[in-house]
Amino acid sequence: MLDFALQNRSLSLDLVLGALAKIDQGVLILGDDRRIVFANPQFSRMFSLPEDLVRPGCQTLHFHQYLAYRGEYGPGDPEEMIFLRERAIRQRERYRIDRRRPNGMYISVSGNPVGEGGYVFTFTDVSEQKRLLLEMESRVEERTQELRAANEELMRLASLDPLLGIVNRRTFLQVAEEARRQMVALNTSLHVLMIDLDHFKAINDRYGHSQGDIVLSAASAAMQSVLRPGELLSRYGGEEFVALLPRTSAADAMARAEAMRCAVAHHSVALAGAAVPVTISVGLAQVRESDPVIGLAIARADQAVYAAKANGRNQVISIDAECPQDAPKDTPHATP
Ligand code: GH3
Ligand code: MG
Ligand code: MG
Repeated sequence: MLDFALQNRSLSLDLVLGALAKIDQGVLILGDDRRIVFANPQFSRMFSLPEDLVRPGCQTLHFHQYLAYRGEYGPGDPEEMIFLRERAIRQRERYRIDRRRPNGMYISVSGNPVGEGGYVFTFTDVSEQKRLLLEMESRVEERTQELRAANEELMRLASLDPLLGIVNRRTFLQVAEEARRQMVALNTSLHVLMIDLDHFKAINDRYGHSQGDIVLSAASAAMQSVLRPGELLSRYGGEEFVALLPRTSAADAMARAEAMRCAVAHHSVALAGAAVPVTISVGLAQVRESDPVIGLAIARADQAVYAAKANGRNQVISIDAECPQDAPKDTPHATP
C-alpha cells in the first residue's frame, strides 16, 4: 500500500517536473535560506545563466549579483537592485514587476511565497503582447493626431467665408467682442469700420452674378492688401464688410479707412474687356467704454455708411466726428 503511494508520488513528481520543463515560462522554486530547489531550463536560458549558478542548493544572491552587474536590471546601483530582490524573498512578500530587458525583451516577473519557507518565481516573455499594445497605442495616437488636425481644419474652415477666404461674421463678432473687453481692461482705443460696395447690384445686373463674385473678391483682396498686423477684415454678409482697428486714435482710424477706400478705388476690375471701377462707402465708429457689446459700435458704423451713401458714395464718414458721444446721432457727415 505504502509502496503504491510512494510510487504514485514519484510518478506525479516526474509528471510535474516534465510539465515544468515544457511550459513557456521560466520557473524558479526556492526553499529555506533563499536556496534554489528547482529551476527549469527556460529560466536559465532566458537569462543565459551559467549552470553552476542555478543548481539546486545555490543561493539566489549569486545569480542576482551575476545579473545585476551585467546590467540586466537596468541602470542604477546594482547593490540596491540586488537588495530589493533578496528582501522580497527573505520577507516572503509577493513580488511583481514588468520590465524591458536590455536585450529588448519585455518580461513579467511574479514571485509568491509558497508552503512553509518556500518561494516560487515565474518569468514570462510578454514581448509579443507588449509589441501589440505599443502598436495599438501608436495607432491610437496617430489617429488622435489626424482627428485633431481634421478638427482644426474644420474649425478654420468654419470661421472663414468660403468665397473670399476672410473670416466670417460669426468669427469677427467673437474676435471683436474680445478686442472690446481688452480695450476696456487695458484702457486703449478701438475702432470699427462698416464697408459697403457702391452700386454693386448694377455690376451684377450688367455682368452677371459670377462676374460680380470676381469684383467682390478683388475688392476684398485690395482691402486685405493694406491691412496691418492686428487689423481684421471680415465679410459681414452680401457685399458688406467690417474691419477692426485696434489701438488707433480717431485720426489713425480715419487714415486706415481711407487707405482701404483708396486701395479699392485704385483697383478697377477688368470685366468683358472693360475696366469696371469699384468703390466702397465706409462708416467709421469708435468703440466706447460705455458700449456693453461690440454690436452697438457696428450699428453706429452702419449708420455712418448710410450717410456716406447719401453723401455721394466712395468716401469715409466717421460717426464720431459729427456725433460725439453725448450728441444726437442723426447728423453724420462726410470726411474727405
Ligand atoms: P449701394 O451703393 O446703395 O450699396 O447699392 P448696391 O447695389 O451695392 O446695394 P444693394 O443692397 O441694392 O445690392 C447689393 C447687391 O449685392 C445685391 C446682391 O445680389 C449682391 N450680392 C450680395 N452678395 C453677393 C455675392 O456673394 N455675390 C454677388 N455676385 N452678388 C452679391
Ligand atoms: Mg449693402
Ligand atoms: Mg452696396
